[in-house]
Amino acid sequence: MFRVRFVCAWSLFFMCASMFGGGNDSNDVDAKAKELVSKMTLDEKLAMIHGCGCNIAPVKRLGIPPVNMSDASMGIRVTPWPSCKGLELSTAFPALILLSATWDPQMVAEYARAVAEEFRARNMHILLGPGVNIYRFPLCGRNYEYMGEDPFLTSSMVVPYIKSVKGVGVLTVVKHFVANNSENRRQKSNTVVSERALREIYFPAFKAAVQKGGTLGLMNAYNLVNGTYCGESKWLLKDVLRDEWGFEGMVVSDWSSLWNSALAANSGVDIEMPGENQCKVLGPDVMKRLLAEGKVTEKEIDAKVLKLVRSCLKLGLYDSNWKKPELNKREEHAMVALKTAREGMTRLKNADGFLPLAPEKVKRVVVIGQNAKKTPTTGAGSGGVKPENPISLWDAVKSIYGDKAELLDEFDAEKVKSADAVFACLGFNVGMKIRDYRKKEEDDSIGAEQAAFNSREWERVKEGEGCDRKGYGLLPEQLELLNSCVAVNPNVVVLITSGGGVEMTPWLDKVKGVLWMYYPGQNGCQAAAEILSGKVNPSGKLPFTIDKRLEDNAAYGNFNLQWVDPRPKKKAGVREYQDVEYKEGIFFGYRYYDKIGKEPLFPFGFGLSYTTFEYSNLKVEKDGEVVKVSFTIKNTGKRDGAETAQIYVGDVKCSVPRPPKELKGFKKLFLKVGEFKKVDVVLDKSAFAFWHPEKKKWVVEPGDFDILVGSSSRDIRLKGKTTK
Ligand code: BGC
Repeated sequence: MFRVRFVCAWSLFFMCASMFGGGNDSNDVDAKAKELVSKMTLDEKLAMIHGCGCNIAPVKRLGIPPVNMSDASMGIRVTPWPSCKGLELSTAFPALILLSATWDPQMVAEYARAVAEEFRARNMHILLGPGVNIYRFPLCGRNYEYMGEDPFLTSSMVVPYIKSVKGVGVLTVVKHFVANNSENRRQKSNTVVSERALREIYFPAFKAAVQKGGTLGLMNAYNLVNGTYCGESKWLLKDVLRDEWGFEGMVVSDWSSLWNSALAANSGVDIEMPGENQCKVLGPDVMKRLLAEGKVTEKEIDAKVLKLVRSCLKLGLYDSNWKKPELNKREEHAMVALKTAREGMTRLKNADGFLPLAPEKVKRVVVIGQNAKKTPTTGAGSGGVKPENPISLWDAVKSIYGDKAELLDEFDAEKVKSADAVFACLGFNVGMKIRDYRKKEEDDSIGAEQAAFNSREWERVKEGEGCDRKGYGLLPEQLELLNSCVAVNPNVVVLITSGGGVEMTPWLDKVKGVLWMYYPGQNGCQAAAEILSGKVNPSGKLPFTIDKRLEDNAAYGNFNLQWVDPRPKKKAGVREYQDVEYKEGIFFGYRYYDKIGKEPLFPFGFGLSYTTFEYSNLKVEKDGEVVKVSFTIKNTGKRDGAETAQIYVGDVKCSVPRPPKELKGFKKLFLKVGEFKKVDVVLDKSAFAFWHPEKKKWVVEPGDFDILVGSSSRDIRLKGKTTK
């Protein structure tokens, strides 16, 4: 009997699967979704809104298979969650922060397609990303998983990402909505922030993801915003997200981020993750009780299930032939990872034209530093990926400089002194191994590495999920090593692995060069060595500002919750929380430095090339509602290279304080030596608008606006004006 029933269920499954075929093109996805939901029992519906580890529960009798989810802040991370298949190797692409440093939407599209292909090859339907939380403070552990400090840049990058992933047939869950900008005690942290800052800084990338990218998924953040947990906020998840922005997809809870069942059930969250035995705020028993008490209606449950089913149907996720093993094009994907690193790594200093250093011009180079031999490819936590054969900086330098390269495990004054160049690889996540913090006993080797991951030593050097960095400076032993090196050899180049800015003032003047590697992925160190040797002309630009001192940062003193915090605690339902006050409002990063007229160490948008570019012929023309900006860029140096021109807009006079300028356009273009190209950028109304705190709407105030075109936020080459 059981056998017969089983066979029937699966025949139905395959019938439905082919019936769903292709999914998204059909105009009647809505009708199909409604029909499926109408056939579900209450138990089936309740099972669906409560996750199964890493899946949305199947309804086999209706032909609905389990829908699998995985993280991807730098490639697919197959977690050893009970319902998943275990820790699998995959391509470790550079972290999203490096992707953003490419300032190249086409590169983003290529990168995202490759990542999504690895999803589809493994039957993973839902990509838990990209992360678009704003870089507010350098110590935030997850800065590496996000796209920097600027809402316009982040919005411009998230859209091609989503479109590309969708193009492969994978569903994006853009995260973490919203204002989750620190990690320590993220579940007890209440972001106290003005609506203006939300609208102008923290919302735009999510809004773009919904309206321009067409994401079908979004994840609520752990924290509270102004006293309400994000997963329980009707204002965020219904009023803003659905009613204002028109989002029709599914809201997925961050893992165990819901607390109050009635609030969460009515707020707009559609599925509680990871569910199973891990969290049961939207668990079937609780939901049944709330239904009986009239605190939740079956209509609300149906609406959730409908959103889940409809989103999946739109992308054909229930199709029986959805898995495409042939898309596991690992060699091709490794090339995409390398190309991204070549475009995004950012050269910050090059004194006396010291770099590039062609191998034929040197007798011996030394590679040294904690991160030289095992360069961390990634930050820690759910953004991490386990690559097959990661290339360390040492591997990469050796592959280019051959026998002229020497690795020093520790400082050796004679060897350092006599080298033509010293490449010091420093930064965080020293000794990073397999990054799965959830399952110690998966197998012995993972268990051992896991233990190392959790050790106190690891805590000290770590930058990642759930863990903000402990300090702004490089680790003390790294500083000691660096000081020893510069004391005997002036030709030191520092290569930094970090998701956020680092204090450099104590040593910057003493070194010849600095190359920012972010977290470079499995073969990104190859790109670093190519930049050192001159094979690649760098074109990455910082997607964030680097402060001289941590104290200079606008959010200093108002960052995360320290472990011992004397401030009074408040209560939301069953949870105690504390406030993190975003006192700086919209004025942080370059917006703040411009406002107070102070120089940061390295400005937003900065990055050096081996060639030079000249900007000319700025024209600013009004054309109805829009303003057309055009100018010419010429490669005036001795090498082919790429430049990112940045267009900033400043409101000359306004009834409320506004930043002196804000990024509203950019264009990356490749130019051969002597070549020049015209750049055209159209600025629509939104480029001139601000969120009016009293009128509670976007406003463009009449008057003059500066149009500033530059190579960075502090290197403005052309100035124009327009009026509104
Ligand atoms: C993280 C999310 C992630 C999820 C699943 C959570 O702890 O905050 O970003 O998608 O885990 O791994």
